Amino acid sequence: MSQRPRIFSTCSIFFVTMVTIVIIGVFTTPANSVQSGRTAAANAFSGERALAYTADVVAFGPRVSGSDAIEQTRQYIETTLQGFGYTVTRDEFTATTPLGSVQMANLVVVVPAADGAPDGPAILLAGHYDTKYFERFEFVGANDAGSSTGILLEIGRVLSENKPSWPVWLVFLDGEEAFVEWNDTDGRYGSKYMAQRMQAAGELDQIGAMILFDMIGDADLSFPKDGNSTGWLNDIVWQTATNIGHDDVFNDDFSHFMEDDHLPFIRRGVAAIDLIDFNYGPGHRNWHSPFDTIDKLGPVGFQAVGETALSALPAIGERILKR
Ligand SMILES: [Zn+2]
Repeated sequence: MSQRPRIFSTCSIFFVTMVTIVIIGVFTTPANSVQSGRTAAANAFSGERALAYTADVVAFGPRVSGSDAIEQTRQYIETTLQGFGYTVTRDEFTATTPLGSVQMANLVVVVPAADGAPDGPAILLAGHYDTKYFERFEFVGANDAGSSTGILLEIGRVLSENKPSWPVWLVFLDGEEAFVEWNDTDGRYGSKYMAQRMQAAGELDQIGAMILFDMIGDADLSFPKDGNSTGWLNDIVWQTATNIGHDDVFNDDFSHFMEDDHLPFIRRGVAAIDLIDFNYGPGHRNWHSPFDTIDKLGPVGFQAVGETALSALPAIGERILKR
């Protein structure tokens, strides 16, 4: 998670929302044309298991980039994914931070599609696994970023037994958090590195779309569309959530505008969506605080997000084919 504080008046939010609705109405396919229903993979997804993986990760304590604990976390992620039969690639890099050079690594798994599936560019399912460094208290980041780690592991388990109808990559990003202050140079180290490296190598066309998970474990999970995300992905994912009965979590009340690991990809022309509940605890007090602990999480939100993302894959794949 992360968002630079954004000051919008209620009126300006309303105006932006209305303009967005008008633009969507004029220029895009109606959202109700999306026919995606619940997939077999969605039926196999367990919010309880996602929560259990999250608890395992949180038990390593603060998982700051460059720390021993994040290396232990990496090994746990790798071992778990290897247990599902995957090969895990460590993409190591050195980040220049305000606190000096830090060794980081993104972890990537290529999930093969089912036999006969289209050989198109992959859908990335991504999230960060580092936690923010705080000097004055111990920050274990159950929701931020335990939950994104836990849901990706459970999706990995599910897809190992229910091959997707479209190629998928599981991407565990390092260094999302800023070391000192969130700005264009401090934070999102892993996503910026990956997007830049792939662009430089001429490989960005290997990515058809990206779904980013961040802070999706709140026991009281509910979030709006992110206005910085790609419109057609918002349409497909929200319509899918409605189709399978999760419109209580994927609400349509308003839009927020997130700065997160999806932006380095969007800025390079990759379609991406950020699924994030940036309203965590009373007055958002659990965010980046000692209160972000495992007892604040619950399986129901994991279930809704996991089922929705897995059910949206076929429709996203169809849309990628048309691009
Ligand atoms: Zn954070």
